[in-house]
Amino acid sequence: MRAIAVVEPATAEVMAEVERVGEVDVDAAVERARAAYPAWRAVSPEDRSALLHDLADALSGRGEELARLEARNAGKPISDARGEMAMVAECFRYYAGAPQRLLGDTIPVSGGVDMTFREPLGVVGMIVPWNFPLVISSWKVAPALAAANTIVLKPAELTPLTALELEKVAVEAGLPEGVLNVVAGPGSVCGRRLVEHPDVAKIAFTGSTEVGAGIAQGAARTIKRVTLELGGKSANVVFADADLEAAAAAAPSGVFGNAGQDCCARSRILVERSALDEFMGHFETAVKAMRVGDPLADETEMGPLISAGQRESVGAYLDDDSPVAFRGSAPEGPGFWFAPTVLCPVSNQDRQAREEIFGPIASVIPFEGEAEAVAIANDTPYGLSGSVWTRDGARALRMSRAIETGVLSINSNASVRVSTPFGGFKQSGVGRELGPHALDHYTEVKNVYFATEEG
Ligand code: NDP
Repeated sequence: MRAIAVVEPATAEVMAEVERVGEVDVDAAVERARAAYPAWRAVSPEDRSALLHDLADALSGRGEELARLEARNAGKPISDARGEMAMVAECFRYYAGAPQRLLGDTIPVSGGVDMTFREPLGVVGMIVPWNFPLVISSWKVAPALAAANTIVLKPAELTPLTALELEKVAVEAGLPEGVLNVVAGPGSVCGRRLVEHPDVAKIAFTGSTEVGAGIAQGAARTIKRVTLELGGKSANVVFADADLEAAAAAAPSGVFGNAGQDCCARSRILVERSALDEFMGHFETAVKAMRVGDPLADETEMGPLISAGQRESVGAYLDDDSPVAFRGSAPEGPGFWFAPTVLCPVSNQDRQAREEIFGPIASVIPFEGEAEAVAIANDTPYGLSGSVWTRDGARALRMSRAIETGVLSINSNASVRVSTPFGGFKQSGVGRELGPHALDHYTEVKNVYFATEEG
């Protein structure tokens, strides 16, 4: 067997081996999805809805088992993994309501009736990363199934386990064979083949901006639809009039959640200069209290990085000149550990403030007044998420409109809800996932004119 040795980041040991598929297997999976499409498309909206409800129930029933698998394979705290598995089931439940709600329009025209239909695309290729393996898969799979598409899903080679389980659970829950096909293999082979395959109608991708740009280029050759959820360098803007204790208490999870390997990480913390000392005092207390360790322990708040390579790439952002204000703790090896690290003061022109580090390093950038905060927040090629902390409601609304980002939270660091749109401005992506908006990206609008005038 051509095997993928799946490594547990907390121990650096192999936890499973799965078959590594190649180009011909991707072609076979696309063919299965293509063959399953006509029958799946013919399933009534009511039955498709019932099936998605059954799948949501099956995923809920397996929630703890899947959470443990994800926690071990992705190195994430079990409490986070449990939350993610609850979101996976919720996502299928949310889109179970969609098949009967894919509404069209009737449009007033002369001589007849004009109406629109929301048609499925056909076979959708999905390429997902290692940071939130199953939850990001569900954001794509659930709306695509609701809209009657069939699917070939490629998880990241580092974290294929829960996606492979999803395929099994889906079939057990009654999804016809061939509707959802999971192919575990390298992006440069399997992902690339999906992108170039003439029978794939769309690619839904989450990952790095660099790979996303290549996918957009590759997809152009066959005019595939593309949605891209890419990197971020989001701002967490703290004004002096904010509840500074609350802002500082929330800042660690905002930037160090998932060990900083989160496209929504608020890795640039902009603090109004007059509040800097007070904020940093509270922030230091919160970071030093973080429990970094065994992902399977209930109390753990941060686990290891995903791989030795990721630890090396994150570590390259620190050198002797780095303005390290303070660091949290991390276990010694084995495992790919990295202590949460806060740099202050950082200029927005510094490398640490410009590049997506994708690890637990936060850059604190002081500012003076609202105009400078907006200028710094927007001085980045990215635009995915962000937060603003203030007690001034009008300022909160001004900032909401001024910051160029797809998702913004006021006095909170929450980014994602199943029922609300998620996606990026600028180089953070194209399209929206979740909420009703995602369905637009898994359907085509068909316009039908029906002449009714006699003679
Ligand atoms: P990638 O963008 O390389 O990987 C994301 C997915 O794309 C994986 O399934 C990968 O497969 C696949 N892939 C890789 N190359 C190709 C290709 N040529 N054609 C089609 N699919 C491809 O992210 P990395 O895992 O390499 O992480 C690198 C950096 O990307 C991180 O440090 C971070 O900055 C950013 N990133 C951002 C994410 C986000 O959520 N926005 C998520 C992950 C990473 P495989 O891994 O199996 O080879």
